Amino acid sequence: MRAMFKELNPPSRVLMGPGPSDVHPRVLKAMATPLIGHLDPSFLQIMNETMELMRTVFETKNELTLAMSGTGSSGMETVFVNLLEPGDKIVIGVNGLFGERMVDVAERCGAEVIRIEAPWGEVIQPEQVEEALQGHARVKAVAVVHAETSTGALQPLAEISQLVHAHEALLIVDAVTSLGGVQIGIDENEVDACYSGTQKCISAPPGLSPVTFSKRAAESMAKRKSKVQSWYLDLSMIQNYWGQERFYHHTAPISMNYALREALRIVVEEGLENTWERHWKLGRALQSGLEGMGLSLHVAENIRLPQLTSVYIPDGVEDVSVRKQLLEQYGIEIGGGLGALKGKVWRVGLMGFSCQPRNVLLFLAALEEVLAQQGADVRREEGRAIAAEAMQK
Ligand SMILES: *Cc1c(COP(=O)(O)O)cnc(C)c1O
Repeated sequence: MRAMFKELNPPSRVLMGPGPSDVHPRVLKAMATPLIGHLDPSFLQIMNETMELMRTVFETKNELTLAMSGTGSSGMETVFVNLLEPGDKIVIGVNGLFGERMVDVAERCGAEVIRIEAPWGEVIQPEQVEEALQGHARVKAVAVVHAETSTGALQPLAEISQLVHAHEALLIVDAVTSLGGVQIGIDENEVDACYSGTQKCISAPPGLSPVTFSKRAAESMAKRKSKVQSWYLDLSMIQNYWGQERFYHHTAPISMNYALREALRIVVEEGLENTWERHWKLGRALQSGLEGMGLSLHVAENIRLPQLTSVYIPDGVEDVSVRKQLLEQYGIEIGGGLGALKGKVWRVGLMGFSCQPRNVLLFLAALEEVLAQQGADVRREEGRAIAAEAMQK
């Protein structure tokens, strides 16, 4: 019989959008490792090692640290379905798409959501958290997004954490884009529940969601009166699968666990501080390069992420055709704007394995070329020179 389709052969790309990022060849190789059973003693060893690596990268001693089967959003849902019961009050910071998604998920849990908002591109202020906590009795948790991928804003955590704990609430943090890119400090910032993903700065394919819970959060879950409404994400059962008991719950995605273990091993090998420093240095170099070309950035410097930059689309330039040309002619993928920023900004990622000097210069050169062809008023070569110099330091 003739094969109906050709062999899988997608084009080669440089992934510089809001995720997924390029995957390290070592991770791809790990994924090609032959399978073993998910209850094989050797796989249990691999799970244990992966948990230990996750604790290192989360900067935590939290016992309850494991990888949920699913993308970052499954981690988000895990945190909310396990911590919230119908009628619980939660304060949620909304300053972008992912804050909005947290509200949606929390409402589906039957929680009473108290929204605090900041314009997209800005961050939630400690005073807003304090005001919300003073204005409502017995708030169970406060949730914020550490790195808002829809805008490129970095949410400071320390002050908010103090306020949350002074009111005996739990602090929930979305670290999908921050983990492995900028410091998160789960223990230092006393974060009670945190979820991340594999395809942003961890640079594995999408498919798992590392989560971590403090003792306080674990105690709160143990005191639940109602059953967790999701069978698949119920941590009381998943814990026994990842814990010493190893009760069968669902079949762990074996190859993705191989991938996560190898990706985390690469982060730890480089050293957490070195990883953060690389992201800061190259992110800032890219940003100064874009400004050097004459473009402006959406987020103020003091709260601007290094691994995700939103840059305003210059006047007279067509959003989609620029991105199309970058993709087709140079193989570079970047992201468009979301929500109110649609058609106004591009989102450029430098995450994990994609965060390399060659990508900074390649992207600046390609963008400059495409913009010039579209008749935009850009300063040619200046951006690249500035970025190259910044990377030398
Ligand atoms: C990407 C992202 C998510 C969602 O992760 P998926 O892997 O797409 O499910 C959640 N929060 C933030 C901040 C993200 O960047």
